[in-house]
Amino acid sequence: MKKLLAAFLTCTLAAAMLVGCGSADSDSGNASNQDVNAEITQADDTGTDNADAGSAGDTSADNADAGSTDGSDAAPAQVKTVKEGVLTMATNATFPPYEYYEGNEIVGIDVEIAGAIAQKLGLELKIEDMEFNSIIIAVTQGKADLGLAGMTVMEERLDAVNFSDSYATGIQAIIVPQDSDIQGVEDLNGKKIGVQLSTTGDIYAKDDFGEENVEAYNKGADAVMALKQGKVDAVIIDNQPALAFVKDAEGLKVLDTQYKVEDYAAALAKDNEELLAAVNGALAELKDDGTLQSIIDKYIIAE
Ligand code: GLN
Repeated sequence: MKKLLAAFLTCTLAAAMLVGCGSADSDSGNASNQDVNAEITQADDTGTDNADAGSAGDTSADNADAGSTDGSDAAPAQVKTVKEGVLTMATNATFPPYEYYEGNEIVGIDVEIAGAIAQKLGLELKIEDMEFNSIIIAVTQGKADLGLAGMTVMEERLDAVNFSDSYATGIQAIIVPQDSDIQGVEDLNGKKIGVQLSTTGDIYAKDDFGEENVEAYNKGADAVMALKQGKVDAVIIDNQPALAFVKDAEGLKVLDTQYKVEDYAAALAKDNEELLAAVNGALAELKDDGTLQSIIDKYIIAE
């Protein structure tokens, strides 16, 4: 009880001072939370995190205070979410710098954007980590409020979900061994191409180069590993993870070519137009006040 009271007082004070108030766990070792004032509860250790962060009552009091510091007059009206007072984000944390593990914690651009949106809506952020191809299902089945995973707006996906306004541009890039004779998209004809299952890279590569030439792996990192082992000749994947994977792997390079240019957006359930409007409203504010750009700049160093 003493701990709860202390947590409540700390949160209230912190909100009043316009500084962040995350749970003890999510604050430790994560500089990102200093910029984005939202409670981040990792799905993996929900029990302990929630105990540390305090009761739901504490949280909403805190967030109501924090919400009014961003220039809006009143505490935001609650939109309907999967779990009351909580914004549940489905993601696949194998996609640096958008979502990846730093120790036991999921961090990255999407995590911080979701945190900032949650704060504006007066909600606590909870992250559910899953396979990439389960994200849309989690959203359509009412298990998550939004899928945020460097996800590309695609005609086929629009049948299943709504997409928010776009918050970033993604480029499908090509990774090859340093000494490869592949110099551009046209050289991929007849080659074995590795991709991440169900991603746009997978879909486009199968369309353009034939299913028989495409090997789909559960994780992008597995496709890159296969490339290192000579099982495939090239990997098609989003450019930012491509750069991150190549940095960690010797003998590979990212070609200076843009296979496809795409828009990243949040996926939301078709039957919750109210949440879509609220998320778009929050995103617009984050764009206007420079928060979005500063989150991106923190993780992506301009060349
Ligand atoms: N942008 C790609 C897509 O939407 C890949 C996303 C991902 O792997 N997280 O399919």
